[in-house]
Amino acid sequence: MIFYSTNDKTNTADLKTAVLKGLASDKGLYMPESIPVLPKSFWNNIPGKTMGEIGFELLKPYFCPDIPEDTFRKMVDDAFNFPVPVVKITENISTAELFHGPTLAFKDVGARFLARVMSYFASNQGDINVLVATSGDTGSAVANGFLGVKGVKVHVLYPSGLVSRLQELQFTTLGQNVTAYEVSGVFDDCQRMVKECFMDKELNQKRILTSANSINLARFLPQSVYYAYALSQIPQERWKDVVMTVPSGNFGNITAGLVAWRMGMPVKRFIAAINANRVFADYLQTGVYKPQKSIATIANAMDVGDPSNFARVIELFGKSVDNVRAEISSYSYTDEQIGATMAEVLKATGYELDPHGAVGYSALRDHLNAGELGLFLETAHPAKFIDTVEKYTGKRVEIPARLQKFAEGTKQTVKIKADYTELKNRLLQ
Ligand SMILES: *Cc1c(COP(=O)(O)O)cnc(C)c1O
Repeated sequence: MIFYSTNDKTNTADLKTAVLKGLASDKGLYMPESIPVLPKSFWNNIPGKTMGEIGFELLKPYFCPDIPEDTFRKMVDDAFNFPVPVVKITENISTAELFHGPTLAFKDVGARFLARVMSYFASNQGDINVLVATSGDTGSAVANGFLGVKGVKVHVLYPSGLVSRLQELQFTTLGQNVTAYEVSGVFDDCQRMVKECFMDKELNQKRILTSANSINLARFLPQSVYYAYALSQIPQERWKDVVMTVPSGNFGNITAGLVAWRMGMPVKRFIAAINANRVFADYLQTGVYKPQKSIATIANAMDVGDPSNFARVIELFGKSVDNVRAEISSYSYTDEQIGATMAEVLKATGYELDPHGAVGYSALRDHLNAGELGLFLETAHPAKFIDTVEKYTGKRVEIPARLQKFAEGTKQTVKIKADYTELKNRLLQ
């Protein structure tokens, strides 16, 4: 498959180039040149299949034969090594729990898959150095996703003292091919230092550098698989009524769902559920896309004022706002509303939402039409946001063993100043 830049259809790349570069040279995002519609027989037969089986068929058009089919099949199985159960919360609202992976958030899926694809392309080229600046969640998903993967070294930069203890432990206790840099500065310093690495000619001659953020097509595309897998767990006669609802920030997750839809996934419509960062809802209302500074909320993984995958979303709709409006709606919720939803749902149903899932649930509770069946993605485990959840629900959240396990490790970091030269020297050592 050939991939083109959302800024220029003639700016194309093969799979390997698109994956290793991440962003196109004109700063556009890579899109597959065609999205094949899979036959009805494929969709009719997804019930009972494993995520690996569904994933192989869904992703093969994009990744094979650049990656040989038998190798690719193993990569898919390996990436999807945890369950994604669909759980019923009310009569007409269910959730697909995406938090059963190593770092308890859906980002595990994209990170684990990307790591395996990069490793495949790395094998005959020397080590690939993945640089990632994190304010918490991305660093842990990427570090754990790439842990022990051959041919790849991961360098995580984070602001000292500014991420929660449990988050910090998830990427500082791993060792092996993961190095954590504890920067005496803020998140923006970390991000600036990573950008300077990519612009440094000397460093790029001596080291292969790449990024693992959500603009990479091998990070967002694999997420289309769990939409199909979640659907496979719903009675087939209800598929035509299903409203897929996605708590959204950078819109990588929903883009993957829309790709599955374009491939023929037989559901009714999509909702982008958002917090007080309401750029997308405003765009649907006014037809004008106006990026904003991000606002801090309790669903903080969705605090994005200029969603990086917006270009991909409108590309899927021929860049027409009317087309987007016809098939996606978007609703925005304040912190007070999110908090009240977490409390209300726990009380009424016993189900413990995290703040992000609560945004998805709210959109369905308020906007589901008669006869429809709502399915929202629970993007993280409530224990990841334990202080917020406990504050609003008044009930203690149990920390799952695999999250607690990180607390037993020893923190190992390289302490550096918020200074690019120090980082560069470390990378050249
Ligand atoms: C990253 C994240 C989101 C937002 O996903 P996008 O793909 O950026 O839209 C939502 N919830 C959680 C818990 C996340 O970590």
